[in-house]
Amino acid sequence: MTRGNLYVVSAPSGGGKTSLTRALVPLLAEQGIRAVISVSYTTRAPRPGEQDGVHYHFVTEQRFVEMIEHGDFFEHAHVFGRRYGTGRAKTEELLAEGADVILDIDWQGGRQVRALAPDAQGIFILPPSLAELERRLRGRGQDSDEVIAGRMREAQDEISHFDEYGHLVVNEVFDRALAELAAIFSRVRQGDRTPRNAVPAGLTTELLAKKGPIG
Ligand code: 5GP
Repeated sequence: MTRGNLYVVSAPSGGGKTSLTRALVPLLAEQGIRAVISVSYTTRAPRPGEQDGVHYHFVTEQRFVEMIEHGDFFEHAHVFGRRYGTGRAKTEELLAEGADVILDIDWQGGRQVRALAPDAQGIFILPPSLAELERRLRGRGQDSDEVIAGRMREAQDEISHFDEYGHLVVNEVFDRALAELAAIFSRVRQGDRTPRNAVPAGLTTELLAKKGPIG
């Protein structure tokens, strides 16, 4: 059986990554492509509505450290003061079964995966502009300006790594971004791994102007 392809999908929070990857799986299934979103391990607490084993495997700090010592992680990182990691065995099993595996992880995990699996495809989902990202982060406007400013800083830190990814998708119109994502998977299945990471000129200037000192 042909081995599946490994994908790293990163985006700033507010970028729409989770909704896009959730919608992508059934769309790919219609095209005969089996894709699975990897369920990460984390030490953060579940948010309302999140289920253990579905959204994350929620584990204690002690268990997480034991797993690191046993070499159970494919990659792991600290994100916003909590630990997150991708299990090694499950990822390997799915790829061997021929499934494409989607790792919804941050840029630090992306770097580790690229080092370990140079064939992995990196996809970065960009917002159409920083102003639009801020609007999305504000959501229903229940958070203080200070909280929003903090989220914008974190988001810009993540965005500053967009040029480490071979494929860029701008999430302006959800359905169009979804179709672009599906097209990447289908091209890669056909052996076309050509990077397509051109961003609209205005957006590049804006994002590069904000590129932080990290990385
Ligand atoms: P959240 O806590 O909001 O679900 O996720 C916070 C961030 O952690 C997101 O940027 C997400 O991509 C990242 N993340 C989730 N799982 C993993 C993982 O297994 N490894 C790494 N490196 N990052 C992860």
